Amino acid sequence: MDFDLSDEHKMLRDMVFDFASGEIGPLAEKIDREDKFPDNIFKRLGDLGILGVTIPEKYGGAGSDLLSAVMVLEQLAYTCPALALSYGAHSNLCANNISKNGTEEQKKKYLPPLCSGEKVGALALTEPQAGSDATNIQTTAKRMGDEYILNGTKTFITNGPIADIVVLYAKTDKSRGAKGISAFIIEKEFPGFSSSKAIEKMGHRGSPTGELILEDCRVPKEDLLGEENKGIAVMMSG
Ligand SMILES: Cc1cc2nc3c(=O)[nH]c(=O)nc-3n(C[C@H](O)[C@H](O)[C@H](O)COP(=O)(O)OP(=O)(O)OC[C@H]3O[C@@H](n4cnc5c(N)ncnc54)[C@H](O)[C@@H]3O)c2cc1C
Repeated sequence: MDFDLSDEHKMLRDMVFDFASGEIGPLAEKIDREDKFPDNIFKRLGDLGILGVTIPEKYGGAGSDLLSAVMVLEQLAYTCPALALSYGAHSNLCANNISKNGTEEQKKKYLPPLCSGEKVGALALTEPQAGSDATNIQTTAKRMGDEYILNGTKTFITNGPIADIVVLYAKTDKSRGAKGISAFIIEKEFPGFSSSKAIEKMGHRGSPTGELILEDCRVPKEDLLGEENKGIAVMMSG
């Protein structure tokens, strides 16, 4: 069996290394000190074609494999771990999750702007009282006609303060515990959705981490990701 990297993998690795060391490296200390990425960093990553490595080309991605995605993450982390963290939340936890679990309509709507960097993605699972014990989330989603009404608070969400599109978990049936969790795609413009300012951290500075607040947040039923009460399957696939 041949374990060598293909020429395509080597080219991708070298391209991301050159970008990270040439453009991000000189700014890494400033990013850490000011706790802020350069403006339009996601657009720049999108122009490089690395925001949707595993996503099919018809949705704006590169249609490549998991090894390529890991190599991009590795090369970014070598120069700037904070950028790698935000990149992973956007590309893997949000975009790749929608690519794997979304309907055709969801993929057509959400993946192109995530792959281009026009929109920033995040994933929201953790809550003040549910970290490692992830299935203990208290955020609720109640079906009312053609919408779900979501209430709750998420915390420590990477890209939370700047995210446009969030894959978010809530309980659609509290009595069923882990089997009552569903996944949703939330747009920051949805009524009842808001985010906090970035939380000050000791590490990974630059990567914005924040709280998301859902107060009677109205989510169209079309933005259920996967099946109702099957959110754990979505969670484990991403
Ligand atoms: C920089 C950063 C970015 C993050 N980004 C995101 C994000 O994008 N989206 C998101 O949803 N969440 C995010 N999180 C939250 C992260 O997933 C949680 O911090 C994690 O799940 C742990 O939860 P907790 O912090 O509440 O710690 P706790 O669950 O309270 O754990 C505290 C300590 O207890 C230990 N512990 C817990 N349970 C047990 C047990 N049963 N037995 C033995 N030891 C145990 C843990 O290992 C840990 O050392 C982020 C966190 C950080 C720090």
